[in-house]
Amino acid sequence: MGQINKVAILTSGGDAPGMNAAIRAIVIAAQHYQIDVIGYYHGYNGLIENESRLLSLSDVNNIIHRGGTLLKSARCPAMLEIQGLKQAANTLLKEKVDALIVIGGDGSFSGLLALQAYWSGLTIGIPATIDNDLDGTDFTIGFTTAVNTAIEAIDKIRDTANAFDRIFIIELMGRQSGHITFNVGVACAAEQVLSFENVKPEQQKEKLSLLAKDIQSSQSNHHESYLIVMAENLWLGGVTKLVEQLKEYANIDATACILGHIQRGGSPVAKDRILATKMGVAAIQKLMQKKSNIMIAEQDNTITEISLENAVKHTKKVSQGLINAQEDILALTAQNQC
Ligand code: ATP
Repeated sequence: MGQINKVAILTSGGDAPGMNAAIRAIVIAAQHYQIDVIGYYHGYNGLIENESRLLSLSDVNNIIHRGGTLLKSARCPAMLEIQGLKQAANTLLKEKVDALIVIGGDGSFSGLLALQAYWSGLTIGIPATIDNDLDGTDFTIGFTTAVNTAIEAIDKIRDTANAFDRIFIIELMGRQSGHITFNVGVACAAEQVLSFENVKPEQQKEKLSLLAKDIQSSQSNHHESYLIVMAENLWLGGVTKLVEQLKEYANIDATACILGHIQRGGSPVAKDRILATKMGVAAIQKLMQKKSNIMIAEQDNTITEISLENAVKHTKKVSQGLINAQEDILALTAQNQC
């Protein structure tokens, strides 16, 4: 491949705070090398429908602190079909795009890999998902902000729970992984953390009985409140079902609270803005070295790269150290009360 003149970018999958900061960094770095940046709207849909606009420095002025994504994001089921992949590839060919940078999660990178069968330009992924479930990078853009947002909300729930000695069960996002749930649980001093890593589907009955016992013992010790944080998609029937089950099983009154999309919004925290800035600049620098088929990553505070194939191969596990920390603090708290 010769000189790179035009780079396409899009944001795909669930939006994550810091996506705008990544777009900004890409546009600024590209301008330095006199590369045009064309932004496609609504994830891969923008490629399929050829809905785009050239991005200039003025477009990315004053966006580093904004949540969401100025390019919009979306799921795009058409990318799972050959016809959709061919349409996306045709747009890139027609518009003479030399490289495509996708800002998103593992699904979005699978799309990038699938596209390579029909388009031979350079491809780079930037990991941005609140779930933090991508292997090969210590953190994904948006995760830290989502955790902080959930903490702020739960601290408020704790105040009202304390005022009425209430029990709350709070559902957190994370798809099929517990990065948000465990981090938030430890940081909010939750009395219980329920996630994929510590509750298997076949253990739910047993867990219900243990939970009921623990809540009753906590109430008899005159605890002011009791907070359970739970990962979405974990409990059969969700938080409302667990509330019903606690009532039926042990006459315990709990309140369900689904934090939901509040976790996606808001201004990115410093860590996400900085990570997105480093990764956006690195993406353009890697393209200048003609690197392709890679995800930009950060490991031990150093920006690096891993192949897209490896990035999507495994889901990043919650660190055992964090799971142990939650178990240890609960055990020590219980011992102190004896
Ligand atoms: P998040 O997990 O934060 O929501 P994600 O990128 O994993 O982010 P997905 O919904 O899994 O989100 O994927 C986003 C889009 O990527 C899909 O709507 C689809 O357009 C494309 N995509 C996902 N998997 C594939 C695949 N196997 N082949 C082609 N395209 C795919």
